[in-house]
Amino acid sequence: MTNTQTTLEWDTKLDTEDVVLEVENFSVHYATPKGDVIAVNDVSFNLKRGELLGLIGESGCGKTTTAMAILRLVQPPGRIVNGRVTIDGLDVTSLQGEELRRARWRQMALVPQGAMNSLNPLMRIKDQIADVIETHEGKQPKKELKERILKLFTDVGLPSRIYNMYPHELSGGMKQRACIALGIALKPPLVIADEPTSALDVIVQRIVAQTILDIRDRMNVSMIIIGHDMGLMAQLVDRLAVMYAGNMVEVAPVDSAYAEPMHPYTQLLIEAIPSIKERKPLKLTEGLTHDLRNPPPGCIFQFRCPHVMDVCREVRPQLKAYKPNHEVACHLYEEGI
Ligand code: SF4
Repeated sequence: MTNTQTTLEWDTKLDTEDVVLEVENFSVHYATPKGDVIAVNDVSFNLKRGELLGLIGESGCGKTTTAMAILRLVQPPGRIVNGRVTIDGLDVTSLQGEELRRARWRQMALVPQGAMNSLNPLMRIKDQIADVIETHEGKQPKKELKERILKLFTDVGLPSRIYNMYPHELSGGMKQRACIALGIALKPPLVIADEPTSALDVIVQRIVAQTILDIRDRMNVSMIIIGHDMGLMAQLVDRLAVMYAGNMVEVAPVDSAYAEPMHPYTQLLIEAIPSIKERKPLKLTEGLTHDLRNPPPGCIFQFRCPHVMDVCREVRPQLKAYKPNHEVACHLYEEGI
């Protein structure tokens, strides 16, 4: 816990130079017979070229829905109710039909959760990549297409011998890297990877994480990495964005987020990371998330926050930068409170 209550509020938010992704006041609801579930509530953030942003939070906090909605992949009963998403200046929230189809893979690509199940088991890996390339760029000369696919394999650390293989012939880590190869096949400026290392053992996790870093360095691609493995995020991403109950509660450079987490929820998440240096009881975040159809007035973390104050029950804290590039939505840091 950072006890020092900062009263200084920084005027500037993130350096907006070379921003690839801009998400503004983005809200996504799911219709249910008992009212809308507010899965994502008025979320704003951006992503710079070549940056890795870790989107974290507990299950159901809205991180995957945010990503799917950016990619325009939310299906009914889900819907985008508000906000705007631009990728390299292209307003993807307004795209429809053929325009949207063309933007997928070219402007934005998904490395889906569970590589084991997301590849087509009936198609060779090379044919799945060729399908993406030829669907968007038209028929390609065979030799060039093969060279391009083999280059993609090299980029993600896959051996050329998998060229004629089916997904079931690959290990879990190889399948995950094949999914990454699909994601970068058309060199989109934005790639979203949904829990890219889940269901892999720690050695393979490390290899996949290194693959992501290599690709970023080589291609300068911007990536959102969704996950809840705080230890892995610490080693992988440049900035951390923490979501709770559909709201963005903290966005900070990764060093600052781990060394001086400001939001009580982020502090609890970091305290829950087991240590190999000292034996300590696992810290739990007590209580349950509120009903997402009926958020309380005031702070959405008030029912679980160890520092809750009267104002927290009445006024919703806004995401503000209290240190350079370190934004938090919490009344603890507001002047005069
Ligand atoms: Fe806790 Fe209040 Fe900050 Fe919310 S605004 S996180 S309840 S201290």
